[in-house]
Formats: sequence, C-alpha cells, structure tokens
Amino acid sequence: MHTIDQLDDGRAVYLNGERIQVSQVPIFRKTLALNNQYYALQKSHPAVHTYTENGHTYDIAFKVPRTVDDLRQKHQAYQEIAETNNGMLGRTPDFLNTGMAILAEKSAFLGHNQYTNFAENAKNYAKWIKENDIFISHALQNPQLDRSQPINGIPKGYAGVHTIERRADGIVVSGAKMVNTMAPIADDLLVFNPPELLLEKGDTSYGVAFATPLNTPGVKVICRKLLDHPGYTEDDYPLSNLLDEIDAYIVFDHAFIPWDKVFVENDYDMSNRFFIESGMFIHTSHQDEARGITKLEFATTVAIRVAKLLGLDHFLGVQEKLGRLTANLELIKGTIARSEDTGHLDEQGIYTPNLQALTAVRANLPAFYEDAMRVTQHLAAGSMVGVPGFEEFAGDNGDILQQALTTNLATAEERSKLLNLAFDLSSSGFGQRQLMYEYYHGGDPMRIRSKHYLDEDLHAGNAMLDRLLRD
Ligand SMILES: Cc1cc2nc3c(=O)[nH]c(=O)nc-3n(C[C@H](O)[C@H](O)[C@H](O)COP(=O)(O)OP(=O)(O)OC[C@H]3O[C@@H](n4cnc5c(N)ncnc54)[C@H](O)[C@@H]3O)c2cc1C
Repeated sequence: MHTIDQLDDGRAVYLNGERIQVSQVPIFRKTLALNNQYYALQKSHPAVHTYTENGHTYDIAFKVPRTVDDLRQKHQAYQEIAETNNGMLGRTPDFLNTGMAILAEKSAFLGHNQYTNFAENAKNYAKWIKENDIFISHALQNPQLDRSQPINGIPKGYAGVHTIERRADGIVVSGAKMVNTMAPIADDLLVFNPPELLLEKGDTSYGVAFATPLNTPGVKVICRKLLDHPGYTEDDYPLSNLLDEIDAYIVFDHAFIPWDKVFVENDYDMSNRFFIESGMFIHTSHQDEARGITKLEFATTVAIRVAKLLGLDHFLGVQEKLGRLTANLELIKGTIARSEDTGHLDEQGIYTPNLQALTAVRANLPAFYEDAMRVTQHLAAGSMVGVPGFEEFAGDNGDILQQALTTNLATAEERSKLLNLAFDLSSSGFGQRQLMYEYYHGGDPMRIRSKHYLDEDLHAGNAMLDRLLRD
C-alpha cells in the first residue's frame, strides 16, 4: 500500500502538456484513497479479504483457488472492494494480483534464454508482488498506427514496445502502449501483448513481456484530460468529483529493464501466448466480472430510484423497463455463479472458472449497463438536465428553488442530489468514459462474441438436429 506522497518518486507523468507531481492533482488523491480501500478491507474484514499461507497473511486475491469455495470467497472479496467505489474502479489491485498468483503457478512454459530464466523471473516477481502487496497496472494494447502493416513494418517504432538493445544485464526498450488505466497512481507496470491482435513471424523485437516500476528512467505516462469538475461540489458531480480512473498513453524511450523483470523476449509466439497460457486472462476475467455485477447493480438501482423520485414507478410501461434491468442483473449474477459452479481443476490443480460462462458475461454486460444508463436518461429527461448548480441553494435564488423544486415525493435538495447523480452516471464525460470502459477494457467486443460462438459446446443441439435430419 502506498500513500499519495510516495507517488512523487520521480515518475514522469504528464498532464495537459506539463510534467506533474501526482500528489498535486486533487482527483488523483481522491482516486488513490478509494483504490486503497482494497488494503483497508484486509483489516476491517479479514475473514473474507485475507488468507494465511506458511504462517503469513496475504490478500485473498493472491490465493490460488483449489476449490469452488475458494473462488466464491474471492468473488465476495472482489465485490466488496468494488462496492467501495460503486464498481467505478475497474483496475483496483485485486484485478492483476489474482492473475499474478496464477502466473507464479504456471510460469514453467515461459522457459529461458541464454541470459536468464523467464519462468523463474515470473515466479519471483509474483512472489515479490504478493509479499509486498504491490499495485500493478497493465499495458498490452498497441497503438493503432497502420492496420495495413505488420507491427514492425510501421516506421519509427511506436507501434508497440520493442527491444532495441540486448545486454548481459538486461534489455533496453522503446516504443509505446496505447492506453493504460491507473498507470499514474500504480506502483509497477506490467507490459505484454494482447491475445487478440497477434504478432506475426518477423515481429520478434516486439515479442516482449516485462515489468518495471513507473519511475524507471525513459518511461513516460501521458494522461488523457481529466473528467472532474473542480469548480463544482460533489453534490453537483457526485461521481466525477469523487474519482477519475485515469487512462494514459505510455511511452518508452530507451528504458532499461533488468533480466530478472523480463518474462518474454525476442519471441513473438510466446508473447502471443503469454496472457492466456499464464492463466492470467481467465482469473483476472473472474475478478472483472464480479466487479461488473457491482457496477450493474449500482446503475440499475439508480434507474429505479430515479423512477421513484419522479413518481414514474407506478406506470406499467416504466415497470416493464425496470424489470428488464433487474432481469439483466439476475442473468449476470447467475452466469457468474455458473462460471464458478461448473469450473474445473486444471493440470496444476487450480480451480478454474468456466470461461464460456465468463465470456458470455463480457459479451452482454456492456449492453446491459448501457441499457440502465439509457433508461435513467429517458426517465430523468428534462427533470435531470434542468437541475441548477448546487450553489444556487445558498444564493439569492435559494428560497425560490427550495419551494419550486420540492415535490410531493422529495425535498428540493434530495431531488437535485439524485438527479445530479443520474446525470453524472448517464450523461457526463465521466459517465460516457465508464460506458466506453465497459465495452472495451476487456478487448474488442466483436472478437469476444466471435470467439464465444467458435468455442461453444453445442453437442446436445447438434444431436437433436442430426436426429431430426436423419429420421
Ligand atoms: C476506458 C478504457 C480503458 C482501457 N484500459 C486499458 C488498459 O489498462 N490497458 C490496456 O492495455 N488497454 C486498455 N484499453 C484498451 C482496450 O484493451 C482496447 O480498446 C480493446 O482491446 C480494443 O482495441 P482497440 O481500441 O485497439 O480497438 P480496434 O481494434 O481499433 O477496434 C475499433 C473498432 O473497430 C472494429 N474493428 C476492428 N477490426 C475490425 C475488423 N477487421 N472488422 C470489423 N470491425 C473491426 C472493432 O470491433 C471496434 O469496434 C482500454 C480501453 C478503454 C476504452
């Protein structure tokens, strides 16, 4: 766990054209405080959030699940962490930590080269992360610079991160990664390539996976624009003034990575296999979807509360819309439970969730979340966009607004607070980025659905069909 001041460690973070100290950005301070609830819950609810191994206590995210109950306990912990931020922080430390625990178990496939043993490096790094409960963020997606070329056919070297020098003590890397959520406030950065847009033969210098502290010389974190509203209070922007899960472009300019932090090098095929074969993908997906329940439940509840506030909830047509949202929520809860109940023990004896069930969640949760946002927009409509700034209640118009905005169901301030929340969730820049996050953070939704179709086991359906066609 780190405090905000510890993030002023020399890391090169840029915002709006200037190099900044992370601690000086108010919304980063607030975001880190919420992120640190991951650590606080280990103390306040240790029965769920911690476990003991060889006499040491660790966060439950690091537990390698051996039974369905282990997976369920992890699920509960993920949801409790997500509840501290209404599901709006996707990349709290539990996300990658659960992946690191599995990487440590399965690292043998990484092998070695003449300089180093990649399998041992991954194991040792994961052990260090666990013992020190480090907060890592990950950068995999490569910038889309020219789709007509293989990655190393694109000049200037910013189409990904690649080795430019191999030395006895490590590698020197340059290049870029397109978007990295939470990088400015994480401790370490894990860099690898995505499992969907695969590197091809000849892309070997881009075939890397490694970890590095954010303050490594040559690493630059260039933030997107902030989404908070400094001139307003949290009553006006209850979500965007509470946190900004900041995304950033990452540039590497001759950054030195010692061999013991390198897990794949000069190997396009291993780089393509890294995320899936390490088991990181499936176990981080389990964390991700458990968090998704929390976010969907929050958005569903906001829509229902808005309907009640505005006296719309008695209309059958509105109830039908709200029922669609609650049914969607149940489908997600049920499918994640199915992923746990129908998991299997893999060859290392790790209890592994059912990937088809988890992928079904990823394929549908974004649209369900968007549905909740749209219903909120359509129910809150003009009432929502007509809410004045909260300062008005303390100004010349305060008395008038108190009377004019008080309804048979709520006081003017209660009404304004909820409608401001509804606006922030469904319509502000913050809300739109949250929606984008749901659609894209887990990879391209088109490829997710296509893969689901290709992997689905339909032997029962085929048997029925064949019987009919035969008879
Ligand atoms: C809020 C947010 C946070 C993120 N955080 C991270 C992070 O922390 N780390 C990280 O590494 N990445 C992160 N990402 C990036 C994410 O992994 C990618 O956005 C995702 O994998 C999709 O890749 P892309 O954006 O390059 O989409 P593209 O591949 O450029 O696709 C863009 C669109 O074009 C469509 N398309 C592409 N190819 C075809 C085709 N052949 N035929 C038809 N349609 C096509 C896609 O379906 C998609 O709709 C984040 C993204 C978002 C939005």
